[in-house]
Amino acid sequence: MPTMLPILEQLLVLQDRDQRVSRIKAELARIPHELAAIEAAVKAESAKLEQLKQQAIELEKNRKKLELDAESKRSQVAKYRAQSSAIKSNVEYQALLREIAQAEEEIRRIEDEELVLMEQAEQLQPQVRAAQQALAEAQNKASNDRAAVQRRADVLEAELVKLQTERADLARQIEPDVLSRYERLLKSKRDAVVVPIRNGNCGGCHLHVPPQVCLTARSGTELVSCDYCGRILYWPAD
Ligand SMILES: [Zn+2]
Repeated sequence: MPTMLPILEQLLVLQDRDQRVSRIKAELARIPHELAAIEAAVKAESAKLEQLKQQAIELEKNRKKLELDAESKRSQVAKYRAQSSAIKSNVEYQALLREIAQAEEEIRRIEDEELVLMEQAEQLQPQVRAAQQALAEAQNKASNDRAAVQRRADVLEAELVKLQTERADLARQIEPDVLSRYERLLKSKRDAVVVPIRNGNCGGCHLHVPPQVCLTARSGTELVSCDYCGRILYWPAD
């Protein structure tokens, strides 16, 4: 039965806390992106609604312009009709009648166009209502999501403080030279630095560990390192 050095047990606990701290920090670092995504979802719905409203305004503007055009054509016709009684020549009279017919034709064309715009505006209404509904739902969802993210952030922050306190207490109990060796490794490897020997290989760099080193690790008499990557090695319990 291999025995484990007490210092190794301490280092493994320390490493576990360090890994948990770094996972929590990574998770906390993602939170601003999550919040940004929540805001972006609302903005997208808001932009859709805004676009539809803009379309409706555009349609109404164009319709009003057509209305004014028709109005001016109508007064033109009225003016022609007023002129017609004063005309003596038949040729001029016929010409004026053609002008009137042309203007009336133009009025009908404008009115048809107006009708098309009004139909389009009407068709837009349910789309605007749907977009308003979608925006309200998105805002509601965003507010719930924001609160959930905030709650999770609070839990993570509390957990982080707890782990960092535990970590500091553990670190104080570890021999300073071993601790600084561990911390130097942690800085350069950024992942596991106390690793098991598996199938005769280093659990960090996966290179071969000489049998003598395996034996020492297994006997639990002293701290051993991988010749290649420098990680601290231990013999796993089973
Ligand atoms: Zn190694």
